[in-house]
Amino acid sequence: MTDIYMDNACTSFPKAEGVSDAVKYYLDKVCANAGRGSYERATEAGMTILETREKLAAMFGCSDPKRVIFTPGNTVALNMVIQGLVKKGDKVLVTSMEHNAVIRPLVMIGAEILRIPADGEGISIAEKLPDGYEKAKLCVLTHASNICGSIQPVAEISERLKPYGIPVAVDAAQTAGHFAFTMEDLGTDILCMPAHKGLRGPQGLGVLMMSEQVAELLPPFMAGGTGSVSHSYDMPPFLPDRFEPGTLNLPGIYGLHAALRHGSLQDRRQAEKRQTRYFLDGLKDIPGIRVPGPDDEEKRVGVISVDFLRRDNADVAFRLEEEYGILVRCGLHCAPDAHKTVGTFPEGTVRFSFSEYTTEEEMETALEAIRNLA
Ligand code: PLP
Repeated sequence: MTDIYMDNACTSFPKAEGVSDAVKYYLDKVCANAGRGSYERATEAGMTILETREKLAAMFGCSDPKRVIFTPGNTVALNMVIQGLVKKGDKVLVTSMEHNAVIRPLVMIGAEILRIPADGEGISIAEKLPDGYEKAKLCVLTHASNICGSIQPVAEISERLKPYGIPVAVDAAQTAGHFAFTMEDLGTDILCMPAHKGLRGPQGLGVLMMSEQVAELLPPFMAGGTGSVSHSYDMPPFLPDRFEPGTLNLPGIYGLHAALRHGSLQDRRQAEKRQTRYFLDGLKDIPGIRVPGPDDEEKRVGVISVDFLRRDNADVAFRLEEEYGILVRCGLHCAPDAHKTVGTFPEGTVRFSFSEYTTEEEMETALEAIRNLA
């Protein structure tokens, strides 16, 4: 039986065309570190890093590619921001749909977390900012929920925070590569994303983009060799070196470089909306399930959670693989707050998440399986 992969919100599969070839090419033919040696292979690696930075900067509207920082992942990018800008007792504004990649660093620091309430569909209510929000040191917002796909009104929230000069960071884990947006569209100062989800690159690589003001404000999260100003014991003052100590994930960057060559975001978003509509319509007449999140495909990405009201969700996920070859994720998906918000805590859900490669036939198989197991 061939697998039907429906866990793209966790990590995308298959990767974009050319990604594995580019990783192999780097390891077999280049394999040089950048910014250290000055031989040709090292220069080639440096050029690929630069081109990838430039592509990302253009794609997400970061006005200077030097402010596009490569990290070991989205969680690390978020930690760099949160641990750099927040101290114990500081107020931090978040949505009620955050991932633990945001909540746990805040709890670890001892920040005072102010949650923006959400409506029944898991969409934050921008007009209902919690008491004391004006004094927040930072605002961190998930762009779309990894539980029910709900797209958050980031631009509206950012607009309300502008008069208070609160920096806004966006966790674009579930939106980067899904549709086109820029930092300016969102009105944000900081954008964090993984390479391995919607951008369809390899794991172990994340991206942090920031405005000029944040670049001046943010201290380096780690220190180490950069191949530049090596006589100094201090981290270089200039970007990207200030935030990129140590050897970068070059196989990952080569993979991401290849991934960014492919596909139109407009086409991808059209496919995502079509799939979401198809699946939500198919779920409508199935008794014994609950589907949290918006019914309108315009308001969500292709992440659909199903709560099996008469069954154990973990057992359903197991049987989906055993009996139908369908690969999904069940449980709380590292986002307990989001489940509390949409009423699926503590049982969690079985999450189906698509990519542009998911076919109608595969979705039909999944719907039939859900009908049988519900
Ligand atoms: N934020 C959201 C909304 C996510 O869905 C995820 C991953 O599932 C993360 C953060 C963490 O990303 P990573 O595990 O790639 O560091």
